[in-house]
Amino acid sequence: MNARYHVLYRGPLSSCNYGCTYCPFAKRDETYAQLEGDRESLSRFLGWIERQTSRRFGVLFTPWGEALVRTWYQEALERLSWMPHVDKAAIQTNLSCRLNWLDRCQADRIALWSTFHPTETTLAKFCRRVEQVAAKGVRISVGCVGLKENVTLIEELRATLPAEIYVWVNAYKRQIDYYDAMDIARLQAVDPHFHLNNVRHASLGQGCHAGETSFTVDGNGDLRRCHFVDRVIGNIADPTWEEALQVRACPNQSCGCHIGYVHMKRLDLYPLYGDGLLERIPAVSPGELRTIPLPARKASCRD
Ligand code: SF4
Ligand code: SF4
Repeated sequence: MNARYHVLYRGPLSSCNYGCTYCPFAKRDETYAQLEGDRESLSRFLGWIERQTSRRFGVLFTPWGEALVRTWYQEALERLSWMPHVDKAAIQTNLSCRLNWLDRCQADRIALWSTFHPTETTLAKFCRRVEQVAAKGVRISVGCVGLKENVTLIEELRATLPAEIYVWVNAYKRQIDYYDAMDIARLQAVDPHFHLNNVRHASLGQGCHAGETSFTVDGNGDLRRCHFVDRVIGNIADPTWEEALQVRACPNQSCGCHIGYVHMKRLDLYPLYGDGLLERIPAVSPGELRTIPLPARKASCRD
């Protein structure tokens, strides 16, 4: 059987059309040369994926800032969706882009991980766009950072969208004991997986699929095991790149973001997410989700 890899790509792009006050990329512009550099990096990455026909891939774009307002990311997703050895191409987005490009993709190979930003758009407008995407047969997860001031709006988001669209909540972990019991109960009622995100999972010395069957690629083609361990382990330009992938223990104390901890072996989250792992859509029904046990401990994290 061909090896199957989860690849997270993040090029040099670092700008966004939205203005969230806590974000370093808010309303940040880039020069023509910077944008061209990003386009060329993405093109090299796509060419590499295209040539790897003896492996299978799921690809998730995790840009700094918003990438889907750039046509080259729309075209990249379209191109990936037609590659026979790419099972899934997904991207994190604020969903502000045009949606007509989705019609040119193989809909069942594309997925969007979309985040609602209450200061930048209205609930009604955002939900309308989510439903437009779903109507095209494209898989979409929807979520929001669980700031206390947004809890009611997050409940409205859940109530507005069809039940089959999964709504996740990213716990605000920069402040220890940020939530009281009532906040947690309300957010857990929205997202049956909130408890998994509202913790930094102890990871030092733990086994992780990151660096083994999951890895990141940056604009230079450098490979890292994940976005949270900075050491470069190889480069996609090297024909022996696959040799960089091996069993390794995590060198970090803890892992607190979904795109990281979902790969921790002891959490055993692959069966839970199934084919929706990249776009963060659980494979089992909400009723079954509620049977996943709560971890004992809660700590702080930057997101
Ligand atoms: S949409 Fe995302 S990248 Fe853009 S400003 Fe808001 S948080 Fe930052
Ligand atoms: S546990 Fe998290 S930080 Fe450690 S290797 Fe895995 S993804 Fe990276």
